[in-house]
Amino acid sequence: MNKHDSERIAGMLESLGMFQVDDIDESDVIIFMTCCVRESADTRLYGHVSSLKNIPLRDGSPLTKRCIAIGGCIGQRDGDKLVEKMDHIDVVFGTQNISSLPVLLERSITKHTYSAEILQSSKGFPTDLPSKRENDWAAWLPITIGCDNFCTYCIVPYVRGREKSRSIEDIVDETKSYVDTGVREITLLGQNVNSYGRDIYGKPAFADILDKVALTGIERLRFATSHPKDLSDDVIERFATISSLMPALHLPVQAGSDRVLEMMNRRYTSAHYLELVSKLRSACPDIALSTDVIVGFPGETEQDFMDTYRLIEQVGYNQVFTFIYSPREGTPAAKMEQTSSREEIQDRFDRLVDLVQKKAFEQNQKERGNIVEVLIEGSSKRDPQVLSGKSPKNQTVHAKIPSGMNIADLCGRIIDVRVDEPKTWYLFGECVSSPR
Ligand code: SAH
Ligand code: SF4
Repeated sequence: MNKHDSERIAGMLESLGMFQVDDIDESDVIIFMTCCVRESADTRLYGHVSSLKNIPLRDGSPLTKRCIAIGGCIGQRDGDKLVEKMDHIDVVFGTQNISSLPVLLERSITKHTYSAEILQSSKGFPTDLPSKRENDWAAWLPITIGCDNFCTYCIVPYVRGREKSRSIEDIVDETKSYVDTGVREITLLGQNVNSYGRDIYGKPAFADILDKVALTGIERLRFATSHPKDLSDDVIERFATISSLMPALHLPVQAGSDRVLEMMNRRYTSAHYLELVSKLRSACPDIALSTDVIVGFPGETEQDFMDTYRLIEQVGYNQVFTFIYSPREGTPAAKMEQTSSREEIQDRFDRLVDLVQKKAFEQNQKERGNIVEVLIEGSSKRDPQVLSGKSPKNQTVHAKIPSGMNIADLCGRIIDVRVDEPKTWYLFGECVSSPR
């Protein structure tokens, strides 16, 4: 969501005559889009902003001071407190008022003052901002903002506000405009896409959205994130019936212990989750599943952890994002008693990471010899002669760039790759078709 917000900001500022630079020393304005889901991201912001305190203005800058703006979740949560801690910040804006940024920047730059605006709720869904996408072939498309779920560990509902859905017409129109300009893949975005529509249509309408978006002719369709309590049979069935819906689903489980799931207010049991997995695999036998897991939730025992461990072992995910529980002030879990020591939690985390790696390697071995259709994103960071892209299952795939071709022409095209060497986090192979 932050990436998407950043694209809207870039689009909006470009339409006002500003442009993006790669080198921070060349900038006049620096905008931080922040995240406070876990403490590590939170503390990093302070480090980054503090390090900018005394850097000189660029040669030829029209400003008298480099302008530093903070947006996103930390802006929303901390507001003016940020400036009390770091007085070289010029602008603070919240998650609900991205469209006010140009006015805030102008006020700060022309009047040499600090300016801020933090709204507690938005008037509607912010659809009217232009966006400057990272690339021409893939787009994020938010269908809801905010979250109503209040998982006890999570700060998102407090900093992103209540869930608001965008109208079906808007979503379909935006998708069509992408298809018309050659975009090949879109990812529908929301904290919980499965509850899409409840606020405006009185019932979840996510399966309808999938049908209508698929009819636009988009080649690759994805969505994130799904909450297991709201993943309906209708949506599961779409993995069988919509050919452009990619066979990959991120379905955060968080924990495998029912006791912990209840304390987290997740409102499903591990048995329900496993039933969803089995329904998904019936609808789409080869579906790649990924998930999020929190280790060390307050009150988690070794036995609870082992329930999680066994669930991860049983499901056989392609990818698992593992997090150590991080208390977030203002959430109910932050007041719960932590019964495990740091060492115990770290030990559980390390065991889980080992398992995740082992299972990801096992999953990838199944791809050996398969031909996968790769949407090319660029060259590999390690080797400019190697292309990198994503398979339908969202696996990272690397392959030698075919002779006579260059990466600039290949980006955004799809090529068949035969998988010769499956690794833990990527597949390596050889291109066996022309790009299309
Ligand atoms: N809306 C999505 C994602 C929310 S944040 C969902 O419900 O799945 C992304 C992930 O961060 C969560 O899935 C969770 O695993 C993790 N997370 C959120 N709050 C956390 C906290 N306080 N400590 C550790 N991990 C957290
Ligand atoms: Fe946070 Fe839960 Fe909402 Fe996801 S569903 S954003 S974890 S409160």
